[in-house]
Amino acid sequence: MKAVVFTLGCKVNECESDALASGLKERGYEVTDALVPADLYIVNTCAVTKEAEKKSRQMQARIKRLNPDAKVIFTGCACQKDAAAFTRKNPNNLVTGVFNKNAVLDLLDKSGDNVSDEKKEYEELPTVTSFKSRAFVKVEDGCDYFCTYCIIPYLRGRARSRNPESVAIEIEKIKPLETVITGINLSAYNYNGEGLTGLIKRLKPLRTRIRLSSLEVGVITEEFLEELKGLYDFAPHFHLSLQSGSNATLKKMNRRYTAEEFLVKVDLIRKHFENAGITTDIIAGFPTETEENFEETVDLVKKVGFSDIHPFTFSSREGTVAYKMQDLPLAVKKERTDRLLKLKAECKARFTESQKGKKEELLCEYYKDGYTEGYSKNYIRLYVKGRAEGIKKVVIGEPFRDGAIAEIIDN
Ligand code: SF4
Repeated sequence: MKAVVFTLGCKVNECESDALASGLKERGYEVTDALVPADLYIVNTCAVTKEAEKKSRQMQARIKRLNPDAKVIFTGCACQKDAAAFTRKNPNNLVTGVFNKNAVLDLLDKSGDNVSDEKKEYEELPTVTSFKSRAFVKVEDGCDYFCTYCIIPYLRGRARSRNPESVAIEIEKIKPLETVITGINLSAYNYNGEGLTGLIKRLKPLRTRIRLSSLEVGVITEEFLEELKGLYDFAPHFHLSLQSGSNATLKKMNRRYTAEEFLVKVDLIRKHFENAGITTDIIAGFPTETEENFEETVDLVKKVGFSDIHPFTFSSREGTVAYKMQDLPLAVKKERTDRLLKLKAECKARFTESQKGKKEELLCEYYKDGYTEGYSKNYIRLYVKGRAEGIKKVVIGEPFRDGAIAEIIDN
């Protein structure tokens, strides 16, 4: 039996899909993530923006074209939000939400839907068993922060964290060269009073490079950074969500820091990791954002010297506080997004240029068109000529494509 596990959205969804794929393999399925003809389709959906939700719904028609007789199970955030939308095109589709992902595997032999209510405990999924050079390991689900633009806490529920022993067991089992620790709000990790710093302490014996996914600035402290330095290997790339550089807008967004506090945390990171890559997310055109507020964001971006930024055009989500605010005209949101995209290109180019001649380590991910591609520890896309595997010591050269050329200096 052939199964497709198709994922939309964030890294947390990818982690969950990997776990579901492992569960399917244990049951004898041949599993792929490519959209090909198959007997079974599991689609892990996303609802973070209207566009993501629409794409999730459109999967019904795409699958029907591939195999109208296949068993199809939709799961994830968009299903939690509107389960009925996933049976409109085909009443035989099965639907589960975000709180009982194991129900996806239960549905293989049964019929009926299973969109359950919010759970307080972290749900353990099948351990991922396949070897990968870079593995995403989920340690946390849900969020209590209620940023006014975000629908995630309403769909994913309150923050709940995974037992650190289970995290370590999974990493030991898959033995990735690099492990990306991830969660819906990783900074909210708290297992029986043990926060993210405590989890990092527990990961010290593991012989893998640790990278962290998106962080909130509140988690950045001297102690946290010291613990990161004590890991067997740590990739100094910090993705710190900024969203806005205007204190007035941050307040309306219910973010928990000021622009000044953000800058202090950036300095603290650089004190401990001089050559760190610092990246961020920024929302363009939040409802109350004035031109002046947006200029403050532009100024802050320049002050920080991010290595990359990810601009998002504000997308109003029904059910959030910001949904009730007056949306800005689309042209204004688009114009600000375009300005952020220009800033993004400048930030990336400046950081890449600053790395020229520096020694780095490249995690080789795949070979394409004569080059092996992967990321440096501080998250620059690197390209070395020819085929290479594992982690290589390299020296960074000229800018190339979306990153830089690198030369292997030690095998
Ligand atoms: S921290 Fe804010 S943006 Fe991130 S998931 Fe929680 S509510 Fe959403």
